[in-house]
Amino acid sequence: MGMGMKMEMEVRDWRGRAVAKKFPLAARSATDGRRRTIRVGDTVIGRGLTIIAGPCSVEDERTMTEVAAAVRDAGADFLRGGAFKPRSSPYDFQGYGIEALERIRRVGDDAALPVVTEVLDPALVETVAEYADVIQIGARSMHNIPLLRAAGRIERPILLKRAMHATLVEWLLAAEYIMREGNRRVILCERGIRTFATYTRNTLDIGAVAALRTLTNLPVIVDPSHGTGRMELVAPMCRAAVAAGANGVMLETHPDPPNALSDGFQSLPAAELPTLVADLRALYQFVHDRDRSRSIEEEGNS
Ligand code: PEP
Ligand code: MN
Repeated sequence: MGMGMKMEMEVRDWRGRAVAKKFPLAARSATDGRRRTIRVGDTVIGRGLTIIAGPCSVEDERTMTEVAAAVRDAGADFLRGGAFKPRSSPYDFQGYGIEALERIRRVGDDAALPVVTEVLDPALVETVAEYADVIQIGARSMHNIPLLRAAGRIERPILLKRAMHATLVEWLLAAEYIMREGNRRVILCERGIRTFATYTRNTLDIGAVAALRTLTNLPVIVDPSHGTGRMELVAPMCRAAVAAGANGVMLETHPDPPNALSDGFQSLPAAELPTLVADLRALYQFVHDRDRSRSIEEEGNS
C-alpha cells in the first residue's frame, strides 16, 4: 500500500468514509501526527494558550492606547483590531485604513504586544505585512483565491477564519492554497457558521475544534465574539474552546462596548478581561495536565 493510500484511509468523515487526500500539507498525517507551531516574537502559537484581544475596529488614539494597556495588563498575548473592515453593509463604518495600521503598530509596540489585523485586498497584502505580526483573512474572504495565494507568498503567519458556510474540508483547502505557495504558517480560526438559529449571530462550531485536532496539524483558535454575537456568551464560549482543545482564543474587547465603532454588542467589557484571562490560563493548565496524566497512566498499564 502506497503512502498516499495510507494517509487517505487515516482521515475519515463522520460516517467513517475516507476523506480524499485533498489537503496534503495541512493534514495531520503530513507531519506524522506532529502539530505545527508558529513562533511570533517571544510567543509560540500552538504551544500553550494564545489569547488575542482587542476592539473589532482600530479606533482613535486614546481608545487604542487604553485597550492596548488593558490587553497587556490582563496578560493576553496579542492585540487585535481591523483597519480594513469587511462590513456587511457598505453604509457601515469601513475602518480607518492605513492610518489605523500605523496606529495599531504603534500602540502595540508601546504595550509590547504583537498585533493581528485583517487584509481584504490582495494588492495590499505586502503593505499590511509591514505593520502586522499576524495577518488575518476574514470569513468573507476565505474563498478569495487571489488573496489566499498572495498571503502564501509573504513572510507573515496567516490567521485564516472559517467562512460562515464552509465545511471543514473547504476550510482546509483554503489553508492549502496559502501553504502550497510556500507559507506554511497558517492558523485556523473558528468563528461560527450560519445555521437556522437567530438568537446568536452565528453558531459556534465547537465540535469542529475537536475534529480539527484529529484532521490537521495546524493550530486552531476560536473567536467567540463573532461566533455568538453576544458579549455575555464570550467568556463561557472561550472556556468551551479551551476545554475542546483549542490552541487559543480571539475575542473582541472594548473599554466602553456600547460606544464601540463596530461590534460593541459582542465585545467583552475590558474591565472583565483580567478575570477571563486568568480563568482560561488555569483551565488550559487543567486540561493539559489531565491529558498528560492520562497518557502516563496508559503507559503504566500497557
Ligand atoms: C473580524 O474578526 O474583525 C471579522 C470581521 O470577523 P469575521 O471575518 O469572522 O466576520
Ligand atoms: Mn468584529
